[in-house]
Amino acid sequence: MSNKHFETEAVRIASSKSNQREHSAPIYMTSSFTFDSAEEARQMFAEEIPGNIYSRYANPNSSDLIEKVCAVEGTEDGIATASGMAAMFGSMASLLEQGDHILASRSLFGSTHQLLTRVFPKWGITSTYGDISDIENWDKLVKPNTKMLFIETPSNPGLEVIDLEWIGKFAKAHNLILVVDNCFATPYLQQPAKWGADIVAHSATKYIDGQGRVLGGLILGKQELIKEVQFFTRHTGPSISPFNAWILSRSMETLAIRMERHCANALAVASYFQDNKELEFVKYPFLKSHPQHDLAKKQMKHGGGIVTLTLKGGIERAQRFIDELQMITVTANLGDTRSIITHPASTTHSKLTEEERQRVGILPGLIRLSAGLEHHDDIIADIERALERSK
Ligand SMILES: *Cc1c(COP(=O)(O)O)cnc(C)c1O
Repeated sequence: MSNKHFETEAVRIASSKSNQREHSAPIYMTSSFTFDSAEEARQMFAEEIPGNIYSRYANPNSSDLIEKVCAVEGTEDGIATASGMAAMFGSMASLLEQGDHILASRSLFGSTHQLLTRVFPKWGITSTYGDISDIENWDKLVKPNTKMLFIETPSNPGLEVIDLEWIGKFAKAHNLILVVDNCFATPYLQQPAKWGADIVAHSATKYIDGQGRVLGGLILGKQELIKEVQFFTRHTGPSISPFNAWILSRSMETLAIRMERHCANALAVASYFQDNKELEFVKYPFLKSHPQHDLAKKQMKHGGGIVTLTLKGGIERAQRFIDELQMITVTANLGDTRSIITHPASTTHSKLTEEERQRVGILPGLIRLSAGLEHHDDIIADIERALERSK
């Protein structure tokens, strides 16, 4: 691995030039690749020599993206997928078998929760959720058939932070495959592999694209595990389109400067509103009031682009507030150039029971803000005005 900085790797790693000597990588929109001879075809299929065969297996654009992200995540190898969920599903389905058990942190992305509770049980793969606040008791949740530990940190939308050093050691002690969904932090803010994660999975749709254009996912990790995942993805076909891989590879070049601004804007909003009388509380990993502020500082470069504001007055107030926004977009995505607000209790997390929501910290008045790249004063002004008018 090279020892260049994140920004340099993200910009300078590139697939080898074609014979056109282009400076910016072309898009290889091709389903298959040709062989110079029957013998070359045989050797490539036998994996005796490297080379592209078919875009379901690999394509120069997906390889380019994988190489960049691996360099900055500190992982050996990877696979790019058509969406983040294809990455979450692929990393679990390829490494588990009937009878295995997954231990997971309770606050998971909605579709990941559906995989664990509705999809995998059909194939005899079960799971248990552990509370982050009760981490001392996780030993008791490990069963003889537990094979995988799956976590997200910071969590969505509770912004709970899991101690990566602790979880890395825990996984090792129990001989579990540790999978970390690193979508919220991105490799710019934290590199779970450094703390012992075996697999780092991403929804590249969020900050890696960062402009709300394409879906994509990544499964990254140790070569021996990636080999197994690769067998699964090659033959089940969740391959990313060369065009989307090309977009995401270009986006990697600006991830560092975009994350700097996302995080600065999120911190500005969180600091401005932390004592506001219309709010129960404001949660942001780099605010002193965050219960795991010190831990967040230890393992993250900045606090991330997501802030939660819990409004007084419950669901009705939160909905009135949303309807008063003039600039900030109301949509279910996050990690876009444009600031986005979501009300989890009535949308993304509406299928959970009230008790389940309480347990993961989703109060009725909680609003999730994904701070965009606008000027922070304009983001603050829009929120302040909507707070006033929704009283
Ligand atoms: C969005 C998201 C996913 C799923 O990614 P898609 O690209 O939408 O399939 C998984 N995990 C987290 C944390 C996410 O935010």
